[in-house]
Amino acid sequence: MAVEHSRIIILGSGPAGLTAALYTARADLAPLVIEGTQPGGQLTITTEVENYPGYPDGVLGPKMMEDFRRQAERFGVSYTTGDVESVDLSSRPFSLRTTDREFSCDAMIIATGASARLLGLESETRLMGHGVSACATCDGFFFRDKNVMVVGGGDSAMEEASFLTKFASSVTIVHRREGFRASHIMLDRAKANPKITFDLNKTVEEIVGDVGGGGVTGIKLRDTKSGEIIEQPCDGVFMAIGHTPNTALFQDQLETDERGYIMTKPDCTYTSVEGVFACGDVQDAVYRQAVTAAGSGCAAAIDAERWLGENG
Ligand code: NAP
Repeated sequence: MAVEHSRIIILGSGPAGLTAALYTARADLAPLVIEGTQPGGQLTITTEVENYPGYPDGVLGPKMMEDFRRQAERFGVSYTTGDVESVDLSSRPFSLRTTDREFSCDAMIIATGASARLLGLESETRLMGHGVSACATCDGFFFRDKNVMVVGGGDSAMEEASFLTKFASSVTIVHRREGFRASHIMLDRAKANPKITFDLNKTVEEIVGDVGGGGVTGIKLRDTKSGEIIEQPCDGVFMAIGHTPNTALFQDQLETDERGYIMTKPDCTYTSVEGVFACGDVQDAVYRQAVTAAGSGCAAAIDAERWLGENG
């Protein structure tokens, strides 16, 4: 198999990867973007984005990613779609393989993002974007005066629930046991909020609703003690059971924290391997916003361009 060489390869095509592509293309580095199985990243599973500056009337997530892509294309970015099966960062040029192609590069920008953990229910997938969401910051606004459920018992669930009370008339936190992973302060804040109630020792059996019939209308919960299944009416269900950074490919090659997020050096996007840079949600467990991902994509492109100038 012939090896296709690029000066720089960018893995991932969400806001971080496509911003890195725009900047490296404008620096004449002719980047190759390898898009994963979900081109455009997590934004392609949201509906309207209203908090990305520059879109005063809001924009649909997939449309915004199409705009990012077209903007980068103007300056000579190449795209290829393929599941990367293996990456070798042990020597330069770095190499990687997809199912049917082999690539090498002098520098690599990793922007593979993170995936919201989901329960794995058929109804959850079907109603995603139609009352089911994994991002209160993205979608909370659409639930003004509605009754919503938040699934999870960690800090994310407390944070999402508290945020949702700005809009929703009631928020119920559904958790599978009585103990919480959430920190005391976040849990206490949620407990003190008059709009939040807790439904404990419950697992989600099914989310009820029809895409054509206005989306989510209820949720079926199983009591973990009695086994009883009860259907509750609601207008939305937010999954807050954690995120997983997409870093399986780099295990044992890059330093990650205990949750798997790629560690970057302070105030830059350098990883533990020289010539490899990381940006966006794959290295950010805190902010996880499109605009912060785009900002770090820009930083990674500038870091990579300077590094190639010195080591190229
Ligand atoms: P987390 O701490 O791992 O909590 C995930 C929660 O989801 C747990 O309560 C877990 O239940 C539940 N869960 C997982 N899989 C489930 C399933 N299949 N069905 C039902 N429930 C399920 O994740 P997180 O809340 O996203 O927090 C991740 C990290 O980010 C933490 O370190 C957290 O402190 C941090 N964080 C901080 C802030 C903040 O400080 N502002 C905000 C958000 C997150 P069990 O407890 O039974 O396992």
